[in-house]
Amino acid sequence: MPERCDVVVVGAGMAGSATAWWLARRGVDVVVLEQFEAGHRRGSSHGATRLFRLGYADPADVRRGADALRLWRTLEAEAGRELLVTTGSLDHGDPAQLAAIAAAYRHEGVPSERLDAAEASARWPGLRFAGDVLVQPDGGRILADATVAALQERAVAHGAEVLHGTGPAAIVTDADQATVRAGDRTWAPRTVVVTAGAWLPSVLGGAVSLPPLTVTCEQVQHFVPYDTTATWPSFIHHHAPTVYGLFAPGEGVKVATHHAGPVVDPDDRPFGPDPATSALVAAYVAEWLPGVDPTPVHPARCLYTSTADERFVLERHGPIVIGSPCSGHGFKFAPLIGRTLADLAVPPRGPA
Ligand SMILES: Cc1cc2nc3c(=O)[nH]c(=O)nc-3n(C[C@H](O)[C@H](O)[C@H](O)COP(=O)(O)OP(=O)(O)OC[C@H]3O[C@@H](n4cnc5c(N)ncnc54)[C@H](O)[C@@H]3O)c2cc1C
Repeated sequence: MPERCDVVVVGAGMAGSATAWWLARRGVDVVVLEQFEAGHRRGSSHGATRLFRLGYADPADVRRGADALRLWRTLEAEAGRELLVTTGSLDHGDPAQLAAIAAAYRHEGVPSERLDAAEASARWPGLRFAGDVLVQPDGGRILADATVAALQERAVAHGAEVLHGTGPAAIVTDADQATVRAGDRTWAPRTVVVTAGAWLPSVLGGAVSLPPLTVTCEQVQHFVPYDTTATWPSFIHHHAPTVYGLFAPGEGVKVATHHAGPVVDPDDRPFGPDPATSALVAAYVAEWLPGVDPTPVHPARCLYTSTADERFVLERHGPIVIGSPCSGHGFKFAPLIGRTLADLAVPPRGPA
């Protein structure tokens, strides 16, 4: 006989863990299934850090970021630890991008400051600028691995069952009922939330139509700062390719290119660093980050699951809720994405 519960969440990365936290803290009976071991490095949510910023050209994204920021503080208060370290964030490079982001900040009443290259270099001598710089004080560094662990711990504290190493869970839908099997257990929940990252199309097996998704294997690396007392903002250089970075304690200054990795099959992809990417980023760093040794250290690979317009897929189709919030920029919205998917799975009766 299948086991009964309200919701089964398939996939315990950022999205699944955040959804389980929201559902469990609302008293919903939730089971989370993760195919790999806790803390695995095969998906999109692993690693010490992620960049938090409000800097988007679309005012709606700025607003979403501000809403997420409030919910990060809710999560931190409940988890009893800091998960989003405020360091400030900056954008530089393409003036059209800066103008669009500045306009979105004004539209949403978000504070920002425009510095010229000399002023910015004086404030952050580790970085080089060729033009104006747009600074936003609420940006910062997310502790990614710690966040996924905290979300799962809090979900369990509220009564959720979180199972790791289950092997790939399989979903069978029949009219309005879905059953989920993993290993020798089967569940018949009222709703299934599928937050399977790069594996989403294979888990759904066509049961629900998805927009085209592209899975790429991205690479990050770190660089050792010469001055260990220097402060570093989170930064985006609107350049070809787009480069982002932040300070990662214990690893160095993280610097990486955005949407630059090869298209891969999530079950057949490289884990070691790509020498060409390491060389390209080291050359970039030698030119634009005078404050660090341009020798790449602590490289890591990670998967992007991207839509063509970088929009997130957060939808309900019958008994199935889909969560695919990636395109290389989803983590910063984690607590908001969790609430959105929880609302789709079990609409809240009272205030959220
Ligand atoms: C290199 C890199 C840098 C990034 N930098 C930033 C950043 O600075 N700021 C930012 O906001 N975002 C950033 N992102 C994006 C962010 O990390 C992702 O949007 C987010 O982690 C996506 O989480 P997810 O839960 O959708 O996917 P995942 O973390 O991949 O979770 C999916 C989980 O589902 C499991 N699963 C799949 N199929 C099954 C199955 N059948 N049964 C059971 N379990 C299953 C997988 O094992 C996996 O654990 C970055 C991403 C990468 C790769």
